[in-house]
Amino acid sequence: MQVFHFAAECYPLAKVGGLADVVGALPKYQQKAGIAASVVVPYYQRPFVREYVFERIYQGRLQQGSHDYTYEIWKEANDILGFALFLIKIPGLLDREEIYCYPDEDEQFLAFQHAALDWLCSAHIRPDIIHCHDHHTGLIPFYIEHAPKFVFLKGTPTVGTIHNGQYQGWMPWPMASLMPAFDEWKWGLLDWNGIINRLGALVKCSWVYTTVSAGYLDELFQQANGLESLLAHERGKAHGIINGIDQDIWDSSLDEWIAERFSANNRTEGKRKNKKKLLKGSLLDDKLPLLVFIGRFALEKGADLIPEIIELALHRLEGQVNFFVLGSGNPKIESNLYAIKDRFPQHLDMHIGYNERLAHQLYASADFLLMPSRVEPCGLNQLYAMRYGAFPIVRATGGLKDTVKDIDVENGYGILFQEANAEEAVEAIERSLMLWKSAAKKSRIGKKIMELDFSWDKSASQYIELYKKLID
Ligand code: ADP
Repeated sequence: MQVFHFAAECYPLAKVGGLADVVGALPKYQQKAGIAASVVVPYYQRPFVREYVFERIYQGRLQQGSHDYTYEIWKEANDILGFALFLIKIPGLLDREEIYCYPDEDEQFLAFQHAALDWLCSAHIRPDIIHCHDHHTGLIPFYIEHAPKFVFLKGTPTVGTIHNGQYQGWMPWPMASLMPAFDEWKWGLLDWNGIINRLGALVKCSWVYTTVSAGYLDELFQQANGLESLLAHERGKAHGIINGIDQDIWDSSLDEWIAERFSANNRTEGKRKNKKKLLKGSLLDDKLPLLVFIGRFALEKGADLIPEIIELALHRLEGQVNFFVLGSGNPKIESNLYAIKDRFPQHLDMHIGYNERLAHQLYASADFLLMPSRVEPCGLNQLYAMRYGAFPIVRATGGLKDTVKDIDVENGYGILFQEANAEEAVEAIERSLMLWKSAAKKSRIGKKIMELDFSWDKSASQYIELYKKLID
């Protein structure tokens, strides 16, 4: 079986969040399970492209509006990621440093999808399954069925995965002139509330759609940024499949980025040493429990609550706790955090920005990982944290609810709270400190969370089962 994944991100080439982790790992595990998996992403001017050998394997042309573009397909020569990686390059459009936020982002991803299908058709590559991730690739299933240019691929089973339903790739209708010619009477498949909605088109046109946890699927029927009724209407073809983690990359016993490698058997010692190294030179006392937040400073993540949570927790717990925050993306939250750091320099350290290495060091050093998310489709941070022996303190939503079991229920191992507000988060922190104070319990459950199985093997095989059904 041959599956082609199409996405905007792929770790380690280009990552903004969990989408990259999934697209960089799922195909590898599918490949291990015996199917031929390929990934197609835009070309980015990133270190990965310079450090590895790429070969140009195809060149073609496409018309987008009044622009005539030449596109190139580059393949990573040695499949070092464990699958075939293809990049689509269009000078001036798909050869950028950043992934998102260009003023012509729509043109960028329209050209990506057009070039991807043009290449498959021209090179006579017909995969058994086409798997599209998020709205950046949302038009592909529509094109396959309704754009005559891609008739070669007509009938190919398609899977659309929603990693984040908040972002939908909205485009005003005049932008349809940039798309390859399609059967115009099918316009309704592209439309949602009077504009083109690429995520909506993905849901309507994919043979099945999936979300990255079952809990998130249920929530999307209630709250999906305007797509609720569509998702509910199409629920007959919906599947919630939880993400896994790439245990080759997220392995505290082999991780070269952390100060001290450790496993479940020497967790206490290993984490103590990592924390000591991390906090060396800072004003934070490494004897106190360390709570970490890592993530985009977005409302979905509850990042706006973090300054308030820190202040309230320090007040309630009389300074018996420390915080480290890694993230960026909202100047107001950043300045609120700086203000708290000025007032409590002995209790808060932070790094504003994106830093993959530091993220690994934080998971290894943290006693607790805090996620006050309002929306969390799957959430990978809590899985990485547990793998690195840090207890998750998470709001009971989406994938967090599906992967964390509260310490107060039988066999529980994390701390859950219900509402996204500082009061409830701090109550959860208070509960977590009870666990911190009980050395025996902390050590027993700390070992257990490191041994929980959140590997991709299970979820990758669920996708494969789904593919098989579609092919049959
Ligand atoms: P989302 O994709 O919604 O941002 P996920 O939990 O699915 O959230 O994935 C987040 C991924 O991004 C994790 O691998 C996390 O470690 C990483 N990450 C988020 N922010 C940063 C940052 N500032 N620096 C380094 N890694 C980060």
